[in-house]
Amino acid sequence: MPGKVVLASHNRAKLAELQRLVAAAGLPIEVVSLADFPESTPPAETGRTFAENALIKARAAAAWTGLTALADDSGIEVEVLGGMPGVRSARWAGAEQDDQRNLDLLLAQVDDVPAPARRARFVCVMAHVDPDGTEFTTEGIWPGTLATAPRGTNGFGYDPIFVPDGDDRTSAELSPEEKDAQSHRARAVAKMLAAMSSRTGNTGEQTT
Ligand code: IMP
Repeated sequence: MPGKVVLASHNRAKLAELQRLVAAAGLPIEVVSLADFPESTPPAETGRTFAENALIKARAAAAWTGLTALADDSGIEVEVLGGMPGVRSARWAGAEQDDQRNLDLLLAQVDDVPAPARRARFVCVMAHVDPDGTEFTTEGIWPGTLATAPRGTNGFGYDPIFVPDGDDRTSAELSPEEKDAQSHRARAVAKMLAAMSSRTGNTGEQTT
């Protein structure tokens, strides 16, 4: 089993979150990030699905570091838009990656759509790539609807207009702990840690 895995990200918050979840799952794994490999260059995310993009990032990190690599890719899928923005979520309103403009554009696009038809879901795919080429992915889905106007200041991206099923609040009105307990990312990570745990024969408690 790998003693050390690299998270294909430079985001310190993502690294710290994964380290906490790995420790909570009792996995004997040290997680480092690409910030520890300053020479590495990020690959172009040219995939047409979340899984393809997560695999592109994990393969590049595994090749660069020689370690088992984890990567995630995520976004929001809106039913009446045929699943868009999807993999284009970060740059929906243009190449410069502006959260506010992305959100405003999406709201305008569903302006005349009545409440029951405003179905949307956040999706996160995590990829696991061993240096020997073994690959697998896990997926987390967070279903909900789109609000008619932004509410809340927590989170990022589309959080102010996403109302998770079972709640009246947007995900930007949830505390970080509430979001982490149910989000698409949390679900994908939990499945990933369970898969890694069963691969290692770890008998520690698993989250599902
Ligand atoms: P990435 O996977 O970090 O590239 O994120 C892709 C994009 O999807 C982000 O820039 C956001 O626009 C959107 N997104 C992904 N996860 C979330 C979330 O938890 N809240 C709000 N927006 C999100």
